[in-house]
Amino acid sequence: MVELHGQCQCGQLRYRVTGRVATLFACHCRDCQRQSASAFGMALWLGDYQLTLLRGHTAQWARHTPSGRITDCQFCPQCGSRLFHQNRDTPQFLSIKPGSLDDTAWLRPVAHIWKQSAQPWLPLPADSLHYAGNPDDFADLLAAWQQAPGDCRA
Ligand SMILES: [Zn+2]
Ligand SMILES: [Zn+2]
Repeated sequence: MVELHGQCQCGQLRYRVTGRVATLFACHCRDCQRQSASAFGMALWLGDYQLTLLRGHTAQWARHTPSGRITDCQFCPQCGSRLFHQNRDTPQFLSIKPGSLDDTAWLRPVAHIWKQSAQPWLPLPADSLHYAGNPDDFADLLAAWQQAPGDCRA
């Protein structure tokens, strides 16, 4: 189990989350590019999690995906930082936007998905899993995390 702390950009919201890190991947789809207004998004999945807001509150937006799934997205209502995602299909995982963590030094994505829309100037690490689009099965990403070096994979 890990205990992680983070906050939004303006700092009105701080959180603590405990849980088991299931995987960490980068998504280069157009939707994540738009959401982050940058080159890609990262997703840190936690199982057996407990999320506590230490200060502030989130606002929520339900995103309907083209494939018919729904993701509940939580963000800071003041500065707009996106913090947490929950896919209604996989409620056992909380997906954190890990750039919001206080300590980001240990973050090494084990997979890069939606490579087909990745920015062409960005070299993707050869020792990670690559997918042209969405993985058929995220089990491979979970297994890759178990094999990945790092301090925080408990
Ligand atoms: Zn904020
Ligand atoms: Zn994406």
